[in-house]
Amino acid sequence: MEIHFLGVGEACDGNQPNTSILIKTDAGETAGRILLDCGFSVPHQYLSLNPSAEELEILWISHFHGDHFLGTPLLLLWFWEMNRSKPLNIIGPPGVKVKIEQALELAYPNLISRLGYSLLFHEIIPEEQLHISDSTFSAAYNEHSQPCLSLRLELHGKSIFYSGDGRPTPMTRSLANGCDIIIHEAYGFEDSVPGHGSIKTCLDFARNSNVKRLALVHMQRDIRKQSVNKITSFQKKYNDVKIMLPEKGSTIAL
Ligand SMILES: [Zn+2]
Ligand SMILES: [Zn+2]
Repeated sequence: MEIHFLGVGEACDGNQPNTSILIKTDAGETAGRILLDCGFSVPHQYLSLNPSAEELEILWISHFHGDHFLGTPLLLLWFWEMNRSKPLNIIGPPGVKVKIEQALELAYPNLISRLGYSLLFHEIIPEEQLHISDSTFSAAYNEHSQPCLSLRLELHGKSIFYSGDGRPTPMTRSLANGCDIIIHEAYGFEDSVPGHGSIKTCLDFARNSNVKRLALVHMQRDIRKQSVNKITSFQKKYNDVKIMLPEKGSTIAL
C-alpha cells in the first residue's frame, strides 16, 4: 500500500497545493482508490496523475473549509465528462450530502441530475465504524474552528491516522493509538494559533499514541520554510518517532 501526497499546504500557500492524500491499495492503480480531502487546488493535482475515471472509490471529507472540500465539484465534473458509471462513496461529517450538493449546484448548475453515476453519501458518527469494501473508517472530533473529524482508516492490515485540521483531543488520541502512521496538521511550531496543531503537539501526540511514523502537513507557509532545521533538532529529542515532512508528490510505502 502506498500513501501519495497530492498536496501538503494550508489554504493560502501559493507553493503547496492544499493538503490531500491518496491511498493506493494496488500496484496497478495510476492514482488511488481512496482520497482524503479535496480542496480548491487538489483536482488538478489528481488529474495530473492520469487516473482512470472509475478508479476512485471513496472520498473522505474531514470538514467544510474550502481548502478541504471545495475541489469536489470539479472532480465530479471530470468524472461526468469521462462518462464514469461506478458509484462514488463520499464520507464526511453530518451535513456532508447537503454541503457537497450545494457546492456542486453553485459551481455547475443542474449537473447533479445529469451525472450518470451515483453519489453514495455516508455521514460518519464518531462512536460508529463504517465499512466499505475492505476498508474500515472510524472518526473522532478534534479541536478546530468548525467541527472537524480526524480519521482512522484500516485496510489490508494497516492503519492510517489523518487529522484533518485541528488540535488533538482525548478522542483523537485514543483513535490514533497504535496506528502505522499519523498524518497530522502542524500549523505552527508551538500551539500559538487557536484550533490548529503544532509540531511540538504532534510529536507528543505520536509518542503518546505509540506511533513510530509522523508525517507533518498543512504547515503555515512561513513556518514551513523554516521547519527543516527545526525538525532536525526535534528529531534528536524525539528519536523514537520518525518525523517526515512530505512535499507535493511524495509517497510513503506502508
Ligand atoms: Zn485547512
Ligand atoms: Zn479548517
